[in-house]
Amino acid sequence: MDVVTVAGVEVDTRHWIGGSRVSSPETFVDVSPIDNQVIAEIHRGGTSEADAAVTAAAAAFTEWSRWSPSERAVVLRRLADLVEENVESLSQLETCDNGSLLRSHRRGVMPRVAMNIRFFADYALEKLTYPVWETREHENHVSWDPSGPTVIITPWNAPLMLATWRIGPALAAGDTVILKPPEWAPLTASYFADLTKQAGIPDGVFNVVQGFGPEAGAALTSDPRVARICFTGSVPTAKLVAKAAAENLIPCSFELGGKSPTVVLDDADLDLAVDLAIEQYDNAGQVCLAGTRLLVQEGIADAFAQRFAERAAQIQQGDPREEDTQIGPNIHLDHVARIQGFVDRAVSDGATVEYGGRVHDELGPHYFTPTLIRDAALGSEILREEVFGPVLTMQTFTTDEQGLALANGTDYGLAACVVSGNRSRAEDFCKHLVAGTIWVNCFFVRDLGAPFGGSKKSGIGREGGHWSFDFYADVKNTVYAPSGWKE
Ligand code: NAD
Repeated sequence: MDVVTVAGVEVDTRHWIGGSRVSSPETFVDVSPIDNQVIAEIHRGGTSEADAAVTAAAAAFTEWSRWSPSERAVVLRRLADLVEENVESLSQLETCDNGSLLRSHRRGVMPRVAMNIRFFADYALEKLTYPVWETREHENHVSWDPSGPTVIITPWNAPLMLATWRIGPALAAGDTVILKPPEWAPLTASYFADLTKQAGIPDGVFNVVQGFGPEAGAALTSDPRVARICFTGSVPTAKLVAKAAAENLIPCSFELGGKSPTVVLDDADLDLAVDLAIEQYDNAGQVCLAGTRLLVQEGIADAFAQRFAERAAQIQQGDPREEDTQIGPNIHLDHVARIQGFVDRAVSDGATVEYGGRVHDELGPHYFTPTLIRDAALGSEILREEVFGPVLTMQTFTTDEQGLALANGTDYGLAACVVSGNRSRAEDFCKHLVAGTIWVNCFFVRDLGAPFGGSKKSGIGREGGHWSFDFYADVKNTVYAPSGWKE
């Protein structure tokens, strides 16, 4: 069936190309992690669908790129309004598809999707300017021009939020977009496509190709007509995307994984530190920014560990549609097996599972229990590699210098959380931390105007505010001479 009803919401399972629904001869199953039921058969795109989508996006670019920022802002604001009107449907769909909490989708994630569109439409209109300056009386005028068809590839942990945080600036910059949503949670992308039509976005300006990464994703990233690639996902896949893009020298923005630290200094407010540490289990640990390595200073380590264990024992795991659930399921049985593999290997390497470490006895095979691992050997896999599940490790340190060395001691550098009661000590600590984003005595405060991205293997480039437009647009300098004018 091309149109299915999921959680009471009708959604099309076909691609969205050039303003029409397009079928593929083959489909793949979409399973809900809530109860392991098949909820849809999704059309499986490959080379021909990718080719059709880039053709449509390239054709639409001629007209869309000539719309003024204010004309584009009219339809983009309408799109943001439509997202707001559809928050409930989008939330129900996303929760059923990826298992994240329904209440988070309703109150935070889907309103944020609308903000992603509206913020960048307004930004392009009001803030995308640079002062004119002179070089030997010649004027330099900087502009942000549309760049062309832009491929956006996203993961499943927050599919529509992560997609629209790129679709917003790309469309506002005058680019056309081809979105390849994640195969494990593809539904909201399709629903969103219908909203773009209702908003009045011209045919071909926004396209969706469903399918697997090595098929649809690989075909899109190797198309020479593509002007930009924005990839959010894992490091191994980013390397494949980089190779494909290199063939045609296509600029890429990479937002990748993390193994971020939550550092608790010995002057920290202990309640705050425990609250922030517990937050790292959010979305069943499937958060790129999560500070999964708890690094606690010796003097308060025992007190911290005791309170943390008490709080972790109270975490309500269950159906993500229930209001009081704090942690839902993990996305896919393959992913659960991957998480279990990390835990089992940590134990073989000599670490201790303080609690958790396995699938929940009653909730079903997708529900991995919140886990804490201690005594892992320095340099062991569990302290280096991203698990992307509800698995935290705890290590202790004595001096700030040692804490810093542990915090910086991985190949990743996406984020860090620092808890301290002393501002100048925290500032000193942060100065030497390598991370794209650091939160001090807080977590997950995200402003769309702030730079966002990863250091080291956590990414290449920054997005947010001006940084987004520096990537999605073609930045141009036009130099006007003082003479040669006839009027
Ligand atoms: P993944 O790398 O397996 O897949 C991401 C996307 O890439 C999917 O849409 C997939 O279909 C596609 N893909 C796979 N192979 C491809 C190929 N050869 N060519 C083109 N596309 C291909 O990652 P995942 O498991 O879906 O997501 C989890 C990862 O994403 C974690 O590492 C997480 O940290 C990261 N992530 C990063 C951010 C960030 O902003 N830094 C945000 C969310 C998730």
